[in-house]
Amino acid sequence: MVMGAAGSKLEKALGDQFPEGERYFGLENFGNTCYCNSVLQALYFCVPFREQLLDYYSSNKNPGDAEENLLTCLADLFTQISSQKKKTGVIAPKRFVQRVKKENELFRSYMHQDAHEFLNFLLNELVDILEKESKAAKTSPEVSSSSSSEKTANGPSNPVANGVKEPLLTWVHKIFQGTLTNETRCLRCETVTARDETFLDLSLDIEQNSSITSCLKNFSSTETLNAEDKFFCDKCCSLQEAQKRMKIKKLPHILVIHLKRFKYIEQLGRNKKLSYRVVFPMELKLSNTIDDDDTEYSLFAVVVHVGSGPNHGHYVSLVKSHNHWLFFDDENVEMIDETAVQTFFGSAQEYSSNTDHGYILFYERVNGAS
Ligand SMILES: [Zn+2]
Repeated sequence: MVMGAAGSKLEKALGDQFPEGERYFGLENFGNTCYCNSVLQALYFCVPFREQLLDYYSSNKNPGDAEENLLTCLADLFTQISSQKKKTGVIAPKRFVQRVKKENELFRSYMHQDAHEFLNFLLNELVDILEKESKAAKTSPEVSSSSSSEKTANGPSNPVANGVKEPLLTWVHKIFQGTLTNETRCLRCETVTARDETFLDLSLDIEQNSSITSCLKNFSSTETLNAEDKFFCDKCCSLQEAQKRMKIKKLPHILVIHLKRFKYIEQLGRNKKLSYRVVFPMELKLSNTIDDDDTEYSLFAVVVHVGSGPNHGHYVSLVKSHNHWLFFDDENVEMIDETAVQTFFGSAQEYSSNTDHGYILFYERVNGAS
């Protein structure tokens, strides 16, 4: 069978260097589900994320009382992979994919899907489930102690409802969440208004022959609000010209960068894929943060879009595990050389035979305060 053959090839390639306890499994494709497989592999090799899911699985082992949801299906899948006897092979993420289709009709068709949209959906779903569980865990002792008398159940003395609403930080937040601050300076009175917003990933506009660093610089560049687009200054109590800029206030542990390769082109009336060459380094230094501490990140996964258009194509992923780079293409897993990663930067010419482009980048923080 294909499984054994592919497995042994990778095992041979790694030889003695096959990492202890690690598993490299391809994922079966159920008809254009590569958007899902490529993201799953990137997340599986996001070690803090994987560890949390495996923990979640082992502490919620009672299948009877737990209702199946995306979190349980994902925890189940990751556990299945990590507990395989064989070191390599293929797994069918069937229950997980069925659950995705059940939860979101966008992913129900067999059409080409957007891997970034899927990642976004998945992380937000996981956050929702964890928040609900945490709320339920907080309320359940109260419920059980008062459940004997139905009269008090809706009473005003419900201790749960009185708590101050504090944003709950789930482990998904702790891994992926960062904070941006949107600063607006009124040009008349110089007052700076700052508004914070959180993110689980950063979506960056891209330019031809650029790099992640320059895309991030553009992201944080100053924009002038004037003419039709003036800013209402609370101090001046009127519309004023202002300067606006977006800065990263708090960097996440895992920085996920989405390159906006699919752009709506007015003249075409549809999306076009931008095959621009955007260099993403192995080690990324971030300097557009509030406190300019040079924070360093290390690249560990790339979701790659293969193809020339936005509505068709394929997704694969590149993953760094124990200092080796691996190439995951649905069922197939191969070792690749680190130098091969740069072939996914994009092309400097508009028409190029190479249509494999880095689309979602996963960086892990290697220094700096948390
Ligand atoms: Zn003002």
